[in-house]
Amino acid sequence: MSDKRTEADIVGKKVEKATRGRLECNTVTKIYDPLGVNVLAVDSCDLELQPGEFLAICGPSGCGKTTLLNMVAGFDSVTKGEIKLDGKVIGSGKIKKLSPGPDRVVVFQSGALFPWKTLIENVIFGPVCQGILSKDEATKKGMAYLKLTGLEKFADQFPMAVSSGMQRRTEIIRALMTDPTIILLDEPFRAMDALTKSIVHDSVLKVWDLLKVSIFFITHDLDEAIYLSDRVFIMTTRPGRLKASIKITLPRPRTPDMMASDEFLGLKKQVFDLVHEEAVKAFERGEKEMAK
Ligand code: ADP
Ligand code: MG
Repeated sequence: MSDKRTEADIVGKKVEKATRGRLECNTVTKIYDPLGVNVLAVDSCDLELQPGEFLAICGPSGCGKTTLLNMVAGFDSVTKGEIKLDGKVIGSGKIKKLSPGPDRVVVFQSGALFPWKTLIENVIFGPVCQGILSKDEATKKGMAYLKLTGLEKFADQFPMAVSSGMQRRTEIIRALMTDPTIILLDEPFRAMDALTKSIVHDSVLKVWDLLKVSIFFITHDLDEAIYLSDRVFIMTTRPGRLKASIKITLPRPRTPDMMASDEFLGLKKQVFDLVHEEAVKAFERGEKEMAK
């Protein structure tokens, strides 16, 4: 008998309209001070992300993308300015205390699954450990998410036994288990081949469409940035601040054939020119610094 349940039934809810996950960065500045040498990593950066928006962040290497993400996550302090999530201050130059919270979950570029736990054990570990869900509830929810992303059959496998694409999908599912308002991803698919990436992209878009969670997605892959996001936020070379914000007008649902459309290629040219301009500046500055 075929399974007639919709994806929303499987996960237990379909969020019709996002109401949470508004992120505001107001003139956010970060100065690192290793051994008394001030490094201005992010300078007066303004950014706003609407509830349920998929925002891609692009910029040359070293421009301050990860620094910005770490301040939003509450892993790193804000030197000046203020960061708010749904109106609540989560980082400020005035309050030096770090405030990471379950409302923000980070998925990093290098895998972070426990190798000694199966996929489903990895997925349920956090919420069970934190007492947010019972083991039964977490298993039910975790299995529903695994099913949604085509991983149900692999639930009892260990991470080493599945592909890197499956590991990444599992990490994203794990991040969603505690119903965060925003997911922060730092080049999560960096080392993947194009084919694996395209499968993972479709899983991410499916889950995002269902849960309407806000996504802050750092990537250097411009195709990926445009294909996935509502808007691409381009940062200047260090110190990072807003250079441009490009609205991605491609209709949803996105399909891989869109990548060959004139609209997609036009957007890619626009984003490439802006990022390239900054990469050249970073390169030239590097050369000058080396020559000193
Ligand atoms: P991106 O993610 O865009 O590649 P980062 O945010 O990692 O850039 O780094 C921005 C700048 O801040 C770089 O020049 C980097 O060397 C510097 N930086 C990052 N972390 C630290 C730190 N903990 N101490 C000192 N400088 C740092
Ligand atoms: Mg980085």
